[in-house]
Amino acid sequence: MKRKTGESYCLGIESTADDFSVGISTFSGKILANIIDVYIPPKGGIHPREAARHHAGVASSVLEKAFKKAGIKPADLSILAFSQGPGLGPCLRTGATVARALASYLGIHLVGVNHCVAHIEIGKLETGTEDPVTLYVSGGNTIVSAFDSGRYRVFGETLDIAIGNCLDVFAREAGLHQRVGEPFGAVVERFAANGKKLISLPYTVKGMDMSFSGLLTAAINLFKKGEHKLEDLCYSLQETVFSMVTEVTERALAHTEKKEVLLTGGVAANKRLQSMIKAIAEEHDAEFSVIPREFAVDNGAMIAWTGILAYKHGVVTPIEESFVKSRWRLEEVEVPWVK
Ligand code: AMP
Ligand code: MG
Repeated sequence: MKRKTGESYCLGIESTADDFSVGISTFSGKILANIIDVYIPPKGGIHPREAARHHAGVASSVLEKAFKKAGIKPADLSILAFSQGPGLGPCLRTGATVARALASYLGIHLVGVNHCVAHIEIGKLETGTEDPVTLYVSGGNTIVSAFDSGRYRVFGETLDIAIGNCLDVFAREAGLHQRVGEPFGAVVERFAANGKKLISLPYTVKGMDMSFSGLLTAAINLFKKGEHKLEDLCYSLQETVFSMVTEVTERALAHTEKKEVLLTGGVAANKRLQSMIKAIAEEHDAEFSVIPREFAVDNGAMIAWTGILAYKHGVVTPIEESFVKSRWRLEEVEVPWVK
């Protein structure tokens, strides 16, 4: 292990799904670079192998941009972190391959990071929250969690598809038109803003878990019937799915009696969802925080920062244990840096 004088740096690689990203953080939590390159499929959803091909294609230029932005050289790195799971196998393997190659070439330690833990840690770093109930809503995940006895426990989650995926598939099926750089969830939000009529859709919360696939099918079927305005369908879809995650988050808050609520993931950009979560936080005398979009979506900075937290507590990942874990669950990970 190399020892450097002055500041230490960690580079983090994120490649769990459609984003390939490289972030660089100092050991004290200053994010120096966070370059994100999104794979946009020509049509339809994300095909894992095609997304992986995209990641392999852009890896060197994203790395180069990150070093340039941070103003450091590869030899300045002390450790290298990568997203080890959960996620799409081919995408994860591409990121892991880049991470292994670079770490061995530089002779530095590798740290495998859990993607969901990283979303929570960057949220805490960027918003200053210390012990929140976290609602993590993205294209691939829908998880309500909070820290208890050494781990982030899952209080509620989706039983099938993620909430972002639900919005994206509806938007695609309904032929909604995206503006340049606009995610489908944001298109649904734009249409929903002009909707007024609440159309009944299946609301499925079982215990603390949620199901979105039946409601997605119902919404698509209603669209195909052509009896409702698209604005009203988008409005109703949003109201229903957001009410479901809000109900589960509120129950986790009531149960844990935590004093902070953190909203993160790509769907956190939605203003209607923000207002719903803020309202329940206020009702429970908890502080509401939403993380800036750059750090809410999948990003390398969160991997770098979580790698540092883990490394400072003695976690390293030998190359022979650096295989990817596409189903690595949040509550399987010990987080000794959280007290
Ligand atoms: P991520 O998986 O974290 O990279 O986030 C991508 C997901 O966030 C996609 O499902 C997007 O449609 C969704 N998203 C982005 N902006 C919004 C928004 N304003 N409202 C709802 N969903 C959004
Ligand atoms: Mg993404």
